[in-house]
Amino acid sequence: MTSAIRDSLEILKKAQDFDRQIYDFQEELNQLPADRAVLKDELESKKRHLHELQDTLKKLQLGQKEKEGKLSDKEANIKKMEGQLSQVKTNKEYSALQQEIASLKADNSLLEEEIIKTIDEVEAAEDEIHKEKDRFKEVEKEYASKELVLTDREKELKHTIDEAKKSRQSIMGQVDLKIREQYELIVEKKRGIALSRIHGETCGACQMLLRAQVLNEVRMGDRLILCETCSRILYEETSA
Ligand SMILES: [Zn+2]
Repeated sequence: MTSAIRDSLEILKKAQDFDRQIYDFQEELNQLPADRAVLKDELESKKRHLHELQDTLKKLQLGQKEKEGKLSDKEANIKKMEGQLSQVKTNKEYSALQQEIASLKADNSLLEEEIIKTIDEVEAAEDEIHKEKDRFKEVEKEYASKELVLTDREKELKHTIDEAKKSRQSIMGQVDLKIREQYELIVEKKRGIALSRIHGETCGACQMLLRAQVLNEVRMGDRLILCETCSRILYEETSA
C-alpha cells in the first residue's frame, strides 16, 4: 500500500510538471486578446488623430475659399463704384463715393492679410498631415509585425498545451482512480500546482510549519496527505 502511494506520487510529480506548463501557458494565451486590443487601440488612436488633422485642414480650406469669395465680391464692387465716379454730378457725391471706395479697399487689404495667413495655415496643416501619414504607415507596419508575433505565439502556446495535455494523459492512466480524482480537483483549484514538497518541516508551497503528525502521516504513506493550510498534496523527496 505504501509503495502504491509512492508510485502514484512519482507519476503525479511528472504530471505536475505538465500541469504547471499547461496553466502557465494557458494564462499567457488568455492574455493575448488583451494584448491585441492594446495594439488595435494604439492604431485606432493614430487613425483618429490623422482624421482630426484632415478635418482641420478642410475647415481651413473652406475658410480660405470664403474669404477669397468675399474679396472678389468686394473687388467687383470697387470696380463698379470706380465706374460710377465719372457719372456723378456733384463734388459732394464724388467725394462720398471716393470715401466709400477707400473704405472698401482698406477692408480688402485686411482681408488679403487674413487670406495670406490662412494660406500659411493650410500649408502647415498639409505638411503635418503628410508627416502624420508617414508616421501612420510606420505604425501600421509595426502593428502588422507585432500582430504576427502574437499569432505565432498563440500557435506555439496552443501546440505546447496540447502536447503537454497528451503527455499528462498518457501517464495519468497509471494512477489509481481515487488518487487521480483527488489530484485533478486540487490541481484545478490551485491553478496547476497540486503538489508541495516538504522542506524540513514546512510546506514548500505555502511555507507553513507542518504538524509532527502530518509529517508522520506523509512518511507512512498510507494515503495522500494534504497541507492543512494550502490543501496541496504533500510529499517528501526520498533520497533512496
Ligand atoms: Zn501548504
